[in-house]
Amino acid sequence: TAQTPSTMRAANLPTVCRRYLNSDVRITRTGKPILTVSGGRSSLGGYTATVFGATGFLGRYIVNRLARSGCTVIVPFREEMAKRHLKVAGDLGRVIFLEMDLRNTQSIEESVRHSDIVYNLIGRDYPTKNFDLEDVHVAGTERIVEAVAKYDVDRFVHVSSHSASLDSPSEFYRTKARGEQVVREIYPETTIVRPAPMFGFEDRLLNRLAGATNVLTSNWMQEYLYPTHAIDVGMALEKMLHDDTTAAETFELYGPTGYTMAEINELVGNEIIKNRRHVNVPKTLLKPIAAALNKYIWWPTTSADEVEREFIDQTIDPKAKTYKDLGIEPVDLKSVLYEYLKGYRSPSYYDLPPMTAREKREEKKYLHVID
Ligand code: NDP
Repeated sequence: TAQTPSTMRAANLPTVCRRYLNSDVRITRTGKPILTVSGGRSSLGGYTATVFGATGFLGRYIVNRLARSGCTVIVPFREEMAKRHLKVAGDLGRVIFLEMDLRNTQSIEESVRHSDIVYNLIGRDYPTKNFDLEDVHVAGTERIVEAVAKYDVDRFVHVSSHSASLDSPSEFYRTKARGEQVVREIYPETTIVRPAPMFGFEDRLLNRLAGATNVLTSNWMQEYLYPTHAIDVGMALEKMLHDDTTAAETFELYGPTGYTMAEINELVGNEIIKNRRHVNVPKTLLKPIAAALNKYIWWPTTSADEVEREFIDQTIDPKAKTYKDLGIEPVDLKSVLYEYLKGYRSPSYYDLPPMTAREKREEKKYLHVID
């Protein structure tokens, strides 16, 4: 006889409470049905997603979102140790690692061929011994998008950069713009995402300014930018999976307020209650030094192109879509600074009363960032 919850309870059998499970069938752009069941960590997201560049700063914020909603996430990686933290983002078996090389087409094809969506987050701020910016942003992107087109993957989301322009004086912005051209040519339905400089725990914006070493610049920190929260960008990338109207669109994701780098530096100084040294070196001197450092030192320092980028303000394309079109209210840098910078405060501040005079003046609220 059929077991109902009441007969099962009477017979002391374990019952499954389906009341809280919300199952749904979604249809992808090409008509494939995807069963999703929400149920905490063991949810079934239904989708299979490949995230290239998942081992970087932004990568964890999208892998985490996809894996915890139960999607199967393929993480192509190069370095064993760089990917370990991603394993725990989802339930057992949800995050799958595949070794990949940007010049090995077969490894790229293996990474994308079972997926419903592919994200390309691969990018480099400076040229390295084996890959110049053209190799990473144009040739690498081309190999990935060709594999996406070959295996008829439903959606492709390509992360480019703010200010990407074919006639930019910076090679980084030029190659990012070339990358955008390549993806549009080969797979016109690509969603292009241009994030502003991102802040977060692992960023290269606040951590650089708050660090103990001298901050070397060339433009007196006068570049103007609209920093955005990495968590907001992760949220936007996830929304793109569920919203097929974002296909073939270009998104510029930037924060609500513009700052010069000097203003951000001042905010950072006030927050960590420390005076750091800032040295301005003329561009004609710093560019060759940065180029030499980048060539002979094997850990990331700075590069000639990064010096060039200091002289370029962030540009915003008025035709591109923004957070608003995804229903996201972007977070302002000021409202989360304390959370990201408290670790840089001197330990001698640990026993201060909860509100210092300065905090009272600024009506500072202690925020708890949990994504
Ligand atoms: P990261 O530098 O933190 O991560 C870059 C990722 O790309 C890493 O996973 C890295 O892999 C991978 N990668 C780089 N070169 C290669 C290569 N030759 N072969 C294979 N993989 C490679 O970048 P973010 O997470 O900060 O940024 C993500 C994307 O957003 C990038 O495309 C970046 O250009 C863009 N962007 C970032 C901004 C920011 O403020 N952070 C601002 C604007 C755009 P591995 O770990 O193995 O090195």
